[in-house]
Amino acid sequence: MSSNAIIESLDSAQTDGLVCAICGADYLRVQVPHIPVGRSTTGPQVFACVGCAAEARDERGTR
Ligand SMILES: [Zn+2]
Repeated sequence: MSSNAIIESLDSAQTDGLVCAICGADYLRVQVPHIPVGRSTTGPQVFACVGCAAEARDERGTR
């Protein structure tokens, strides 16, 4: 997944980058490494746990 991908259907917390865009983990409560996976339709960067991001990439078959 490109970090410039536009990700739709996020809730407000996901749009703010406070929770995982994929599993919904709350980064204020859960200490988990997360990386930018794209942008919301309104521009801010959106984050996902490293594990979630890797899974999403695998499902898209970028190999
Ligand atoms: Zn996650």
